[in-house]
Amino acid sequence: MFDNLSEKLDKALHVLKGRGQITEINVAETMKEVRRALLDADVNFKIAKEFTNTVKEKALGQNVLTNLQPGQLMVKIVKDELTTLMGGDAEELNLTGSPSVILMSGLQGSGKTTFSGKLANYLKNKKTKKPLLVACDVYRPAAIDQLHVVGEQIGVEVFSDRDNNDPIAIAKAGVKHAKENGCNVVIIDTAGRLAVDEAMMDEISNIHKAINPQETLFVVDSMTGQDAVNTAKAFNDILNFDGVILTKLDGDTRGGAAISIKSVVDKPIKFIGTGEKMEAIDVFYPSRMADRILG
Ligand code: GDP
Repeated sequence: MFDNLSEKLDKALHVLKGRGQITEINVAETMKEVRRALLDADVNFKIAKEFTNTVKEKALGQNVLTNLQPGQLMVKIVKDELTTLMGGDAEELNLTGSPSVILMSGLQGSGKTTFSGKLANYLKNKKTKKPLLVACDVYRPAAIDQLHVVGEQIGVEVFSDRDNNDPIAIAKAGVKHAKENGCNVVIIDTAGRLAVDEAMMDEISNIHKAINPQETLFVVDSMTGQDAVNTAKAFNDILNFDGVILTKLDGDTRGGAAISIKSVVDKPIKFIGTGEKMEAIDVFYPSRMADRILG
């Protein structure tokens, strides 16, 4: 995960390690390298610039020039700032409803259905939760089948209605079914298109209004880099979602989406997907991710 970025940041900061005395020029040069590493990882230009400016200010404010171990201090400052940039503390799901309704949104192929299953499995394993999966993709019968396969695999009931082409009606019927059958969490998987378009935005926005979920989650493929951030912005403008799910972090992703998304939409990344298996889900901890990036 983020090997290239880790390597470049390590190289940039290494210059300061082992130096007893450094100058403001050394700090500026290091920050230039850090900025370059972030840009290579597909971090937005403005964010990378602000990031290195803040780190530079903090470094000089904390007297990095006279510190006996300037390299270590710089690594700590960069780590702290990366943590802040990615969201600070981990944020949990709001599961206060009865049932709690979680609406999944995102483009087709982002990993919505897979993540719906992973989340249901994760919650089911918490023992106090009995989830219900609801299939609201009325355009692709294969998507309904896929959710049923996932449900069977993890032992979670799936609600669907193949004769109905109104996703709002299915979502509502799903919530009703959950209430009648003692399910305390409802995860609604919705249709996605290959790109942001008006019809899809209208549909998800209408489902959102009709269902009024406790949690609206936006699922995005981290491999799509800057596009992930742009798509997040488009969905957030319409849905004002509660959290981001970054999928496919196990792949050859450069890391830009993980680093940039919080500061663009001001919503926390709540979970990450790290594989195709149902167990490949992790709570997102910004500080752990920063530790990982900086080795
Ligand atoms: P949807 O169209 O948004 O419902 O996306 P799917 O859940 O069908 O996922 C699209 C593809 O991505 C499938 O082949 C999944 O197995 C794969 N996928 C989903 N999440 C992950 C992940 O975290 N890591 C990897 N490597 N593949 C994933």
